[in-house]
Amino acid sequence: LSTADLIEEHRICVCVRKRPLNKKELTIRDLDVITIPSKDVVMVHEPKQKVDLTRYLENQTFRFDYAFDDSTTNEMVYRFTARPLVETIFERGMATCFAYGQTGSGKTHVFDLLNGKAKLRVLEDGKQQVQVVGLHERDVKCTEDVLKLIEVGNSCRTSGQTSANAHSSRSHAVFQIILRRKGKMHGKFSLIDLAGNERGADTSSADRQTRLEGAEINKSLLALKECIRALGRNKPHTPFRASKLTQVLRDSFIGENSRTCMIATISPGMTSCENTLNTLRYANRVKEF
Ligand code: ADP
Ligand code: MG
Repeated sequence: LSTADLIEEHRICVCVRKRPLNKKELTIRDLDVITIPSKDVVMVHEPKQKVDLTRYLENQTFRFDYAFDDSTTNEMVYRFTARPLVETIFERGMATCFAYGQTGSGKTHVFDLLNGKAKLRVLEDGKQQVQVVGLHERDVKCTEDVLKLIEVGNSCRTSGQTSANAHSSRSHAVFQIILRRKGKMHGKFSLIDLAGNERGADTSSADRQTRLEGAEINKSLLALKECIRALGRNKPHTPFRASKLTQVLRDSFIGENSRTCMIATISPGMTSCENTLNTLRYANRVKEF
């Protein structure tokens, strides 16, 4: 490993979490097509049919920092993903944890929405500092305060109806914990619950608003991937201006002491195969150099 590789290894962690088949999938007798043969490998067994109608499984293998199977608890996932980032913010650093995946795959399985959904504007000032105008910050004293804020924020979150899923999250939720010392920022932990990544279905929707939202989500997820890749390569130029999401997270992508973890969540069912493969390919690219 070169020095650059070592820095990258340290800075970016990409892992995958598989959820169990849910009631709906069990009812329609959906097949579980995902196996986790070891703690860092995910296999997708996609049923296919040859021209002569013989059936076979196409096995695709992906390797990540960690692969969590459907029996893994939230606490275990936390221990290997967000927990190692906590110390970063006490060392003047920026820590960011993303949940990425299809709607219903387990991103939320538990953000500034605290001012009655007022529109926020993202501006960059002369000193290249990104400001979110109209953002509210709240002082917190204990864990309960934090959890209450998350609950309030989440209840305000836009959920639109998409052709793919009635309960799709149509917005990215950004929850940031800022550590201040004598009034100055010392460290920041950003927890990002991304909008559902299912595509196609959105962009073909009859509703204009839904299509526009779909296009915006696609754009920001592409920008996000490039920004994390730039962080991993220690590149001086991070393409954060490409979307609001990456603009808001700008300082988390450029800091000397920035660390990122992405948890890609996947549904086990055969009916989700296409979305699952998209998610795994995206997560793979984030880590690939
Ligand atoms: P998303 O936020 O990706 O749209 P959710 O986190 O809301 O999806 O998960 C969808 C449903 O599946 C929820 O009812 C959730 O409790 C359940 N679920 C997700 N992941 C798991 C898991 N690992 N184990 C058990 N249930 C899960
Ligand atoms: Mg969710």
